[in-house]
This record gives sequence, structure tokens and C-alpha cells, in this order.
Amino acid sequence: MTTAAMGKRGRKRVHIKCRRCGRVSFHRRKGYCAACGFGRSRRLRRYNWINKKKSRN
Ligand SMILES: [Zn+2]
Repeated sequence: MTTAAMGKRGRKRVHIKCRRCGRVSFHRRKGYCAACGFGRSRRLRRYNWINKKKSRN
């Protein structure tokens, strides 16, 4: 089931399995992993907005 805004998604596999983090987040065209940043930076991709907890005042 798709919506009009979604377009023709899900036809091609954009993300393949990353060999560093093991998640299916490695973008083939961009050449890096969306989850861990493999291929974009040497270090792990980290953002402070990932931490949902532990940030209460
Ligand atoms: Zn990865």
C-alpha cells in the first residue's frame, strides 16, 4: 500500500546491509551508512538528539 506522496518507493533497495553496524542502512548511491556513518566518517555517527532519555533539566 502506498500513498501518492510516497511515490514509487520500495521498488529498489536503496539501503543495503552495512558491514560495520550490520543494519540495512548503507546507502548505495551515497556510499555511506545512515545509521553509523560508515563511509562518511571514520568514527561512529553520533548525534545528541538520539538520546531521548537522560536529558531532563
Ligand atoms: Zn552502518
